[in-house]
Amino acid sequence: MIKRVMEAAGKPLVKATAQRTQELVGNYDAIGAQVAEACKKYQRPQSQVRVLPVSKFKPANDILALYETKGLRNFGENYVQELVEKSQILPEDIQWHFIGNLQSNKVKHLATVKNLFVIESASGYSKMKKLNDLREESWPITNVYFQINTSDEAQKGGLSYDEVDKIVEEIKNINKSCAKLAFKGFMTIGSVGQSTKHDGSENTDFEKLVNLRKQVAEKLNIEENELDLSMGMSNDYEEAIRQGTNQVRIGTNIFGARDYSKKN
Ligand SMILES: *Cc1c(COP(=O)(O)O)cnc(C)c1O
Repeated sequence: MIKRVMEAAGKPLVKATAQRTQELVGNYDAIGAQVAEACKKYQRPQSQVRVLPVSKFKPANDILALYETKGLRNFGENYVQELVEKSQILPEDIQWHFIGNLQSNKVKHLATVKNLFVIESASGYSKMKKLNDLREESWPITNVYFQINTSDEAQKGGLSYDEVDKIVEEIKNINKSCAKLAFKGFMTIGSVGQSTKHDGSENTDFEKLVNLRKQVAEKLNIEENELDLSMGMSNDYEEAIRQGTNQVRIGTNIFGARDYSKKN
């Protein structure tokens, strides 16, 4: 549980200090400028590369500061309970992105978040069907990305990048049986080794995600650009932009380092 969020629940949210707000705005503007520069350098239209602030472990008033000063509406969170708590005290027009590991027993909690815009870390049809069936008819559609384990690391979640036929079947099942969801693309994290090499060579994890999208689009008989790619974080967003990402997920470079000891 996040102590600071819990303290705020039920009370009016104490706003971030002017100094913290200035820091967040400065960081956000700086990453925005760097992303714009990378888009120019690699000839990517800026409208095709979104910046998603990842606010895990950070207090709700950090989010509110960016919401109010920069007009941001999209934020990413990794933990179901933290997302549920923040969604209860923050404005309802925030579009929440769930980007963490989703355990079966947490699906029912995640399903209660009306303004859950997208789950970027889905790993197949079954949990998504469960989520679909728990959502109210009148609520906005929740988008779904499959997380792909491009680096083959046991500790990373996601579907295996070489199981193309299985992935296509799972997407078809979602399209057929989950009217409150919409399948929209793929997300990957990739290995630390690939994300920190910065030697101008291709990030092979990103390359695998790009190839997977191509194969899946062919099998579904749709255009590649109908499926989004969410790849790139604070360490490797420039490579991700070069290789075709549609969204970079930025935590540290906006909010600062995370203090994992705050989580219990
Ligand atoms: C924490 C996290 C991020 C942000 O990472 P930074 O390196 O702090 O930018 C992005 N994506 C996922 C899936 C994460 O868990």
